[in-house]
Amino acid sequence: MSRMLDVSEDVRAEIGDEEADRLLAGENAPGSYDCTSCRTPGDSEQERTSTVLFVGEETAVLAFAHASCIPSQVVRVAEDQLQGAVRSITSTEQQQPQPQPPAPAADQAVLGVTSGLVLVEGELHPALVVEPTAPIARPGSDGFADEFLPLLIEQGFLPVSQVNQVPSPVAGWSVLLAMGQLHAILQPGTGGGSPVAWWQAHQPLQVTDGWRAAANKSHTVLVFAAPVGSIGQQPREDLLRDALEKAAADGRLVAGSMPLAGT
Ligand SMILES: [Zn+2]
Repeated sequence: MSRMLDVSEDVRAEIGDEEADRLLAGENAPGSYDCTSCRTPGDSEQERTSTVLFVGEETAVLAFAHASCIPSQVVRVAEDQLQGAVRSITSTEQQQPQPQPPAPAADQAVLGVTSGLVLVEGELHPALVVEPTAPIARPGSDGFADEFLPLLIEQGFLPVSQVNQVPSPVAGWSVLLAMGQLHAILQPGTGGGSPVAWWQAHQPLQVTDGWRAAANKSHTVLVFAAPVGSIGQQPREDLLRDALEKAAADGRLVAGSMPLAGT
């Protein structure tokens, strides 16, 4: 059964060789579990299973996911999220606080992220809409020009003139859904290193059951981005769609599709 359990190097480094080997030997294997990503049942004796270590400021909790949903990894979360959200299976002793992943490309601005289902090509697609709270200057520049869209286009996002096509994939980018919640948008690490968070949720973002189901079915999320002031907070998906169409018509929308992390 140990062959069915994945323990990544990151997870091993956090929990230690002894605990990792115990897991792989099947001593602490979970048997059946609720997948921390899609929330449906899994069984570590029947299917490949990823160990996912949630690390808060003071404690860490080991959870399990279908390997087809997310790879084995360490996910950093706020302590209260950890206490509240995870149905604990095994908790490890006090973990040292670890450095956070690099901050988003935005210097001062915060990236606002909204989730919604968007109808494209006759199908509802899980989508994320990213809009900064302030103009984004090019790193190192002292100009005031908003370079948010040009910076993303350099990363592989493409301008959208109408929201009626599934956008092309952005190579190396992915969306991390864990514990049934949205944790991060990952971009390729520099020099081919492991992915880093382009955006990381301060608190994991709740998504609807419909959004999660659609994402787990297609394993793909459409990510739209628009400069500050383009979309705003839209309380309903039809209004979000209207705002996207308007930003597209104004030449203020870029998009790309991304797999769920690890798939
Ligand atoms: Zn799953």
